[in-house]
Amino acid sequence: MDTETILPAGADKLGEKCGIIGIYLNKVMENQKTDDATNSAMGTAPDGSAEEASYNAAKLAYYGMYALQHRGQESAGIACTNGTDIIQHKEMGLVADVFDGAKLDEMGGKIAIGHVLYTTSGQAHIENAQPFVNRFKLGGIAVAHNGQLVNYDQLKEFLEETGSTFTSQSDTEVIIKLIAKSYKKGLERALTDTIQMIKGSFALCVMTEKSLIGVRDPNGIRPLCLGKLENGWVLASESCALDAIGAELVRDIRPGEIVIINDDGVLSFEFGEHTAKRSCVFEYVYFARPDSIIDGIPVQEARLRMGAVLAEESGVKADVVIGVPDSGLGAAMGYAKASGIPYAMGIVKNKYIGRTFIAPTQTEREKLVFVKLNAMKSDLQGKRVVIIDDSIVRGTTCKRLITILRRAGAKEVHFRVSSPPVKYPCYFGVDTPSRSQLISSTHDVEEVRKEIGADSLAFISCEGMMRALEGLNPESFGYCKGCFTGEYPVSVPGELNGKQL
Ligand code: 5GP
Ligand code: MG
Repeated sequence: MDTETILPAGADKLGEKCGIIGIYLNKVMENQKTDDATNSAMGTAPDGSAEEASYNAAKLAYYGMYALQHRGQESAGIACTNGTDIIQHKEMGLVADVFDGAKLDEMGGKIAIGHVLYTTSGQAHIENAQPFVNRFKLGGIAVAHNGQLVNYDQLKEFLEETGSTFTSQSDTEVIIKLIAKSYKKGLERALTDTIQMIKGSFALCVMTEKSLIGVRDPNGIRPLCLGKLENGWVLASESCALDAIGAELVRDIRPGEIVIINDDGVLSFEFGEHTAKRSCVFEYVYFARPDSIIDGIPVQEARLRMGAVLAEESGVKADVVIGVPDSGLGAAMGYAKASGIPYAMGIVKNKYIGRTFIAPTQTEREKLVFVKLNAMKSDLQGKRVVIIDDSIVRGTTCKRLITILRRAGAKEVHFRVSSPPVKYPCYFGVDTPSRSQLISSTHDVEEVRKEIGADSLAFISCEGMMRALEGLNPESFGYCKGCFTGEYPVSVPGELNGKQL
């Protein structure tokens, strides 16, 4: 595939993060031996007989991945086991393109892990698709990883010097090769050894023939939660995946925690590092689905509150408040409620915009905003409009949007942003454009306002954003705000550090 000409949606934006899921089934449910897949762990074995074969963790992983599709659309993969061997299937494309009913029934599985990828380190190639599977004399292991390691280069060099070979540019391969190195010491030791060596952000679902393991890095940068099924357990990046398969949210995996799930239940231990929660604030701003609850905070609540704080901080006289679909809508509703200005739809998003557009030139790509979003004259004509988006990265979307609003007859356009200016790169799983392409890195607010053609422009303050979140769950306070401040929870390689560039 030519990645120059076939661009993933948002290739010029921050890259979406990946989504991971793990399923552990401890018994086959009698009532699930139907074809009612959404609630079921069922799946008929090709021969339709043995009880073992009617486990279908792969199918549950599939529905969970469907709910996590917003976190990555490049590739999808599932690895599963019935206790003796690990099998896997992964391809480029959306979950629904990569798997079908027959494939999932064939896979079955008592344990499964799944992954949807939006490539962060490495290119969009099948070799980088996850999960990664390794087989040893003593058994197999599969890993699905969301996050990014900051010491990938050193670790890879170390592994190569000691005989490992690599087939991908994915940092997840480093993780599995490190586990492989100390696998003879036993899985737990191998995992803890590996986790002490890797630095950066990692939420992991790891699977052997006998157990499912969840890991969250010492800062809990990437999300991971635990859910309970009637007949088993689920690990997932976001709780919306639990809802999709009828699992109940138990709790989030804690920063620096490992959970091992097998027929005896869930065993938790900490891997000894100093932990301080610094979860990614951009999950609440943009990445996560609004119906997810992350670290005790409902994402939609966070967005409503950010909108309300934004209205307090930078109110303006206007006739209507609108939001940029989809991730700007929560903040827009919060802004409207707090300011008392009526909320309207204002903009329609085309639901059928696919994952990829064939758009060879920058100009063509920019025009695609018009295909994706359109304004509603009846909501806007002759009005003073406040428009809220969750973020400005390069400034492309908002510039086009303002053109669309003016075309639809808006008298004034006041742009409000429910996150602070994105000025620094992310080293923890978000593929930020280079600093020179981050409009707020090279322009101050007034310059950005002129550039995008708004009558006024304001961003929420960093303190305001924290205030919005703190009120929602004071106990889980502590965020990585590196893309806004240039200060990171884990030191990033020397001259790469955002502050020094
Ligand atoms: P800009 O057009 O300024 O480069 O990007 C801002 C817009 O991109 C906002 O509407 C925001 O919702 C969206 N956005 C922010 N982060 C990401 C991302 O990582 N991927 C994609 N596809 N869009 C993003
Ligand atoms: Mg957007």
